[in-house]
Amino acid sequence: MKKQGFDPIYQQITRVAETSSQRIQSKLSNPYLWCFCELCWRTTEYSTNLNSPLIIKRLLRGNAKIVGLTASARAAAIKKADAVVKRYEQALAGELGRYTASRLYAKYCDAVEMRGDRSVAGFRDCVERVILYQEWAKHGELAWSTRKPGQDDKAAKPSKLYCEAHNPKRSDEARRAYQRDRRFVTEYESLMDAIWSQGINSGSLPTWDIEAHAYVRREAYRLLQEIKSPRAAASTIEELLAKGLSQTAIARELCVSRQAVSAAIKRHKHRATI
Ligand SMILES: [Zn+2]
Ligand SMILES: [Zn+2]
Repeated sequence: MKKQGFDPIYQQITRVAETSSQRIQSKLSNPYLWCFCELCWRTTEYSTNLNSPLIIKRLLRGNAKIVGLTASARAAAIKKADAVVKRYEQALAGELGRYTASRLYAKYCDAVEMRGDRSVAGFRDCVERVILYQEWAKHGELAWSTRKPGQDDKAAKPSKLYCEAHNPKRSDEARRAYQRDRRFVTEYESLMDAIWSQGINSGSLPTWDIEAHAYVRREAYRLLQEIKSPRAAASTIEELLAKGLSQTAIARELCVSRQAVSAAIKRHKHRATI
């Protein structure tokens, strides 16, 4: 099904652009990476928006309006959700055959998002959300807002590449953060690779787990900031290396992780060979 957009300011239906760049298309087709900012661990403005679709009613000539969620639709949704959750509980207790619990889970929950949580409480959250939209959608069509809440028509569209703190079109502060961090994007990626390979070898980072992806991105971002801080400047590291200290000892000395030291040394060597 094609996703349709709704512009809440002009009250119009918009096509969700299918002609975005190759870069954006390949990003969006990756089930893990599509939602992350290119420069950090936060989610993109676009994916944050996708978490809250709207129900709209079409009017003439591409105009539309948002359909309000009524109390009776909400009540109907809760009643249905209760029934489904009750079935799930029975299924977990083995009363409905071997596969019913898994089938219900697959129907309502996103396994990636749920990180393997099969609890009744987690299931209920998914079910309530899905059924609420189903009930609401009976009164119109599902659409995704093309704008961030509370922004006027001059504000930039939600970015598919960057989070709010890194979208250069969002604010002066965000543009500065973008300019600063974009210069280190290669280092950022090699730090993520390093953390992944360590985590995969030790079995502590499952690649199927979206939380692991978020963790690696957050940790690499933290390391990057440490490396970029004057304390851990390459010259300092070089001095300590010249004194015969090991990477581990240098890391201890500078209060940074060993990966940070190793990455700083690699970066330094790379510069020296240019
Ligand atoms: Zn970001
Ligand atoms: Zn280079």
